[in-house]
Amino acid sequence: MERTCAWCGKPVAYSGRGRPPRYCSAAHRRRGWELRTAQERAERPVDDGGRDRAPVREVVQRTVVLQEAAQAPPAPRPAQRLSGQPYTLPEDAVEWVEALAALRREVTHPQIYPFREQVARACERAALALRAGAPEPV
Ligand SMILES: [Zn+2]
Repeated sequence: MERTCAWCGKPVAYSGRGRPPRYCSAAHRRRGWELRTAQERAERPVDDGGRDRAPVREVVQRTVVLQEAAQAPPAPRPAQRLSGQPYTLPEDAVEWVEALAALRREVTHPQIYPFREQVARACERAALALRAGAPEPV
């Protein structure tokens, strides 16, 4: 009998005895737990162990890039800020959840607020894509 890992989707061996494993490894079990608790951790105040404001800057800069992307071809990864500094996008589900929580905290930021409708529409398109019939995990 075979199951698939809840994090990476790879097959997980199961002997048929005891509770079936949900993850292929301890690392992926840990990552699954991080994802389940990421929302709560991301919304914690900074002085209570929450993320500092550094990731917020990435979200703000990404907003500007998206504005330009409407006319320009897609930026290569890692993308470049207006300052010329490269930045990287969140790499996995945990980082995306944290970045979106940071965005929610920063909607009144002067580099976001004037573009809030564009950002909201981008979030809605992302939610639609997330809920559409998802392809199998790689
Ligand atoms: Zn796995």
